Amino acid sequence: MSTGVSPETSMQKPTSKVGALNLSRMDWLTYFSQEKMPGFRATQTADWVFKHLVSNPEQMTNVSKDIRSRIADNFDWSLPEIVSALDSQDGSTKLLLKTPNGQYIESVILRYEGRVSLCVSSQVGCKMACSFCQTGKLGFFRHLTTHEILSQYMIAAQIVRKEGRRLSHVVFMGMGEPLDNYDNVVKAVNILVSPDGFGLSARHVTVSTSGIVPRIRDLARDARCALAVSLHAARDDLRQEIMPINRRWPLADLKSALLDYQRETGDKITFEYILIREKNCGLREAKDLMKFLHGFKAKVNLIPFNAHPGMPYDRPSDDEIRAFQVYLAERSIAAPVRYSKGLDVSGACGQLAAKTQESLHMAPQRKNVVAPKNLNLLA
Ligand code: SF4
Repeated sequence: MSTGVSPETSMQKPTSKVGALNLSRMDWLTYFSQEKMPGFRATQTADWVFKHLVSNPEQMTNVSKDIRSRIADNFDWSLPEIVSALDSQDGSTKLLLKTPNGQYIESVILRYEGRVSLCVSSQVGCKMACSFCQTGKLGFFRHLTTHEILSQYMIAAQIVRKEGRRLSHVVFMGMGEPLDNYDNVVKAVNILVSPDGFGLSARHVTVSTSGIVPRIRDLARDARCALAVSLHAARDDLRQEIMPINRRWPLADLKSALLDYQRETGDKITFEYILIREKNCGLREAKDLMKFLHGFKAKVNLIPFNAHPGMPYDRPSDDEIRAFQVYLAERSIAAPVRYSKGLDVSGACGQLAAKTQESLHMAPQRKNVVAPKNLNLLA
């Protein structure tokens, strides 16, 4: 079911101009100064973007006409086109977005009692090839720019504002591995959490990684945000079967980087653990997990696998889920069971965009799915 929403800007063809949402408030001030335009106009422009969620210079009514036309000409203000906005019975809305060069990404608005959250994509496709993930099957197309990442926030925030609510939380759990698109993601995070930017609380912006070890250490230094780790198994042979990245950075390396992160930031780390029937949710795996968690201030989100066609896995029974949870709870590990939102409108992470991308035969632009042993993610 479509909500009939539309972005508050016109669609444009691909352009070589810098995306307007790549700019922080400081960048606007620098640009205005270089162009010998008054500084207070930079502040007005940044206020329109960050405070009033305006993505069209025409609507910046207190900025002079001449400056409006200069910033309209010099930057790319286009937002991705909303191809569909599917409302789920659970209150979430899955947005399928088309970038100006014709690729598909998705974002999901998640409405809760006291907050509204947005799950954003950081790449078109993904290199990581996690065996449970629809996006992983697509392979990698390209990184999203900071402008494209923040465009997802802008579009969703405009929708949510019309409902009289504020988009207060962002999770990087859509298509792509955020730490593989490090610079663009870090810049987007810093603009989201800066009081001079969109002003979200740093605790309300979560970057979720499959485990790019060097970047976890970098992130502790470069951005203020929460960290979530897709763990899904705490034994190397099993984890590398489920997540090929584990061959490049095994659990001991991951744990060492995460302990460094915890020491540096003082923050609790959230571990995501998808429960897959007869794979990773028996007593042995629960014991492995407890051993791995030793030394962390951690929370574990248990996510029963959402079975869908083409995937080799099933969801465990309620009894198996409960037994796994109780084992952790008895050892003082908070482990809430989370159910993927929006299942009635095409499942979890990347599923809708993956379907669309495949059905539109986007393969010519596809880059290789990782060859796990030769993984060179930072190249
Ligand atoms: S789960 Fe995340 S990191 Fe793994 S393949 Fe899917 S999008 Fe990539």
